[in-house]
Amino acid sequence: MPEIILPTERTRVVREPHRGSHDREAIYKILDEGFVCHVGFSVEAQPYVIPTMFARVGDNIYFHGSAASRMLRNLSNGLAVCLTVTLADGLVLARSVFNHSMNYRSVVALGTASLIEHSEEKLAALRAFTEKILPGRWNEARQPNEKELKATSILRLPLTEVSAKVRVGPVEDDAPDYDLRVWAGIIPLRLTPGAPERDERCDPAIPVPRYAENYTREG
Ligand SMILES: Cc1cc2nc3c(=O)[nH]c(=O)nc-3n(C[C@H](O)[C@H](O)[C@H](O)COP(=O)(O)OP(=O)(O)OC[C@H]3O[C@@H](n4cnc5c(N)ncnc54)[C@H](O)[C@@H]3O)c2cc1C
Repeated sequence: MPEIILPTERTRVVREPHRGSHDREAIYKILDEGFVCHVGFSVEAQPYVIPTMFARVGDNIYFHGSAASRMLRNLSNGLAVCLTVTLADGLVLARSVFNHSMNYRSVVALGTASLIEHSEEKLAALRAFTEKILPGRWNEARQPNEKELKATSILRLPLTEVSAKVRVGPVEDDAPDYDLRVWAGIIPLRLTPGAPERDERCDPAIPVPRYAENYTREG
């Protein structure tokens, strides 16, 4: 598999191209860190951008939802999509309002999503969703039965037309503004998990799984 996903006319980063990347590994790393994607599509000239969870498996992104949702009904007919994932890494406070910015890593993927028909691939995708959120959870929780599998549509978007864009680093002010007596710097942002909260109908004798505690410690 080539290390670079060749840019097309649509995925060539035009504005601030030094922040753009088509490196497969860099793109996959951003995707694997994200929990939420936004799926953009157009129905009868009305654009919709719907947030949903997703998982990458190999060179595909899988996302799912109720079979009745508008997004999935239309996507299964082969509508073009634009799927984005954004990681907000920091607020960049410059000396001028104009130069305020954010540090971020983001991915834009274009293509046509198709509905998965085979239950084996469907199960693999559901497993990927679960394992992505909490590795080990799939084997402990009850796995989907046939009725649940039928009620869930899963779509696959091949990662063939993709770009990443990354802003890292310090404030970039205009030269004369460095003399201003204004605080400048970065406020880092992190997605931090809290302590696990037991469901009120969960038997207190059941210990908190190690992966849930680790989740908190690693956060
Ligand atoms: C958290 C966050 C905050 C941002 N804030 C601002 C802001 O305030 N002002 C601003 O102008 N821009 C901001 N950006 C950058 C913004 O996403 C666009 O890159 C920028 O506005 C240029 O858009 P464009 O369509 O003209 O890009 P072009 O460079 O013309 O886009 C061409 C192609 O480049 C790729 N591309 C463009 N942007 C991205 C991206 N972010 N991630 C991955 N691929 C991309 C796509 O494949 C796109 O089709 C922000 C990005 C993030 C993630």
